[in-house]
Amino acid sequence: MSRFLSSRFATLTPYTPGEQPQNRKYIKLNTNENPYPPSPAVTEAIRASTGEELKRYPDPTAANLIRTMAEYCGVSEEQVIFGNGSDEILAFCFLAFCDRKVPACFADITYGFYKVFAELCAVEARIIPLTGDFSINPADYHRAGGTVLIANPNAPTGMSLTLAQIEEIAVSNPDNIVIVDEAYVDFGAESAVPLTLRYDNLLVVGTFSKSRNLAGARLGYAIGDSKLIADLNTVKYSFNPYNVNRLTLAAGKAAIEDRNYFTDCCNAIIETREFTTQALRDAGFTVLPSKANFVFVKNDRLHGEEYYLKLKERGILVRHFTDARISDYVRITIGTRQEMETLIKTTKLILEAIQ
Ligand SMILES: *Cc1c(COP(=O)(O)O)cnc(C)c1O
Repeated sequence: MSRFLSSRFATLTPYTPGEQPQNRKYIKLNTNENPYPPSPAVTEAIRASTGEELKRYPDPTAANLIRTMAEYCGVSEEQVIFGNGSDEILAFCFLAFCDRKVPACFADITYGFYKVFAELCAVEARIIPLTGDFSINPADYHRAGGTVLIANPNAPTGMSLTLAQIEEIAVSNPDNIVIVDEAYVDFGAESAVPLTLRYDNLLVVGTFSKSRNLAGARLGYAIGDSKLIADLNTVKYSFNPYNVNRLTLAAGKAAIEDRNYFTDCCNAIIETREFTTQALRDAGFTVLPSKANFVFVKNDRLHGEEYYLKLKERGILVRHFTDARISDYVRITIGTRQEMETLIKTTKLILEAIQ
């Protein structure tokens, strides 16, 4: 830390992204990216945007992309905002909807960035522990007394709430905002977007990084009551009006329009997840019931960190978290069928070698 860093950040612990190795080639199952490339229509749309127009700023209102998304979701254009990844949208939410009097309320085991944003914005984090089986009990969120953040499906567990449970949480917090982070919703859970038409305190956040094969393009969004979206735009225009670049605006629009490609990729990942879950259970693992593009697993004969390290030695990257409550587990992203067959074969070799 330099002597110039503001004292506001003296104790800030930044987010630790999963490894993005640039030298060795791994089977990369550690950051929940999509194993399939973007749709050919997306690649073409990006290529068509690389000409002279790049000298101009992108449309700060993202009008074309918002029109496409609003139509796709069945909401009006005033109910949508895009950002440079959903991480940026979440940062806007903390700035807009939390402060010294309004804490951020979220689970002990959830997306690690919430805690970082709370620290960055000097907002109290009110931690609501998951139940013993790692599920969220909606009753624990009644009258939460602050801005509620729920990842649905949750990360890194993969477990999801039903729409009725999300609705219960929105209804029981009439004076606070409930933010549902749907980064993984397309892999089998139910989206709360339709509920945003009925509840003006419900905001859905999503990303194109996982189910739309575009982690490298950085595109995220929020959908909610037009007044909430106006608030987020106040923050956006006070931070970076050109937050989504031209190439990504074009890529996002093409990704929404190629519905068949999207559905095919999601279905393939869901099928591979079910195959992987069964194979790991057969090998003696506990696998939490996942509606995401990853599984959260443990094996009593193998500590989480040891499993992670042994896989890495053998060319497979997964994610291990050191929080005491989940250090027995590793999170494994669902790759292609072939990648998961290699993971399972390698896992069996690792288990054989330790008996
Ligand atoms: C991956 C992820 C994000 C961030 O997505 P980006 O759009 O890539 O910034 C947000 N929330 C959760 C729960 C995630 O897993």
